[in-house]
Amino acid sequence: MAGSIVLFGPPGAGKGTQAGKISEITGKPQVSTGDMLRSAVAEGTQLGHEAKTFMDAGLLVPDSIIIGLISERLRNDDASNGVLFDGFPRTIHQAEALEEIVSVTSVISIEVPDESIIERIVGRRMDPETGEIYHIKFKPPPEEISLRVIQRRDDTEETVRSRLTAYHEQTAPLADWYSEKGLLVRIDGDMPIEEVGKSIASKL
Ligand code: ADP
Ligand code: ADP
Repeated sequence: MAGSIVLFGPPGAGKGTQAGKISEITGKPQVSTGDMLRSAVAEGTQLGHEAKTFMDAGLLVPDSIIIGLISERLRNDDASNGVLFDGFPRTIHQAEALEEIVSVTSVISIEVPDESIIERIVGRRMDPETGEIYHIKFKPPPEEISLRVIQRRDDTEETVRSRLTAYHEQTAPLADWYSEKGLLVRIDGDMPIEEVGKSIASKL
């Protein structure tokens, strides 16, 4: 399998927002563990059932569940030239498991300070028909879409705080782990969406 790219960063950093353009440029399909888990919850599968309690509490879903999900996803034909991981890996254990199955050629780290994260998450909205991500202030949905946008059940201020704690304790150490391997590309994510996009594109 050709090299895969990892989109890395705290919740609300803009990974999902930037993923579409990166997929377009690189031809690698986006693989978002968050989206996969939400589908499993919506479908009411056993896995969704197990994951939901953790997601609602703003905690990471156990590694064994995530690694199983990813291993299965990578068996799809569209993954043969590498994929764009969004929100995975989130622990050193997940990254080690990933190393056994694919080669990661770069890790794009979107860096945003905690102060900006809460506003981004609480204002996040999604179009359930297209999956497009909006923000009430930074990327308002067009009028015809604004009536149908939804808010994720875990996008509350309280849950964001738990998610940020999980990020700092369990996920942030991965930045050093990838940096030591010479794979980490740091991007200032505290700029307008377009600017962040250009900055990432210039590094691809
Ligand atoms: P992640 O996938 O990293 O959790 P999202 O891409 O869903 O993050 O972005 C979180 C929220 O912040 C969304 O509402 C999105 O519209 C908004 N957002 C993303 N990037 C920026 C940016 N550079 N500036 C302001 N708001 C942003
Ligand atoms: P965000 O980028 O806003 O944190 P995601 O959609 O990536 O949101 O993830 C939503 C939730 O799904 C996380 O809070 C966590 O409970 C779970 N999750 C997603 N990806 C992983 C992962 N790689 N490892 C563990 N839990 C995950």
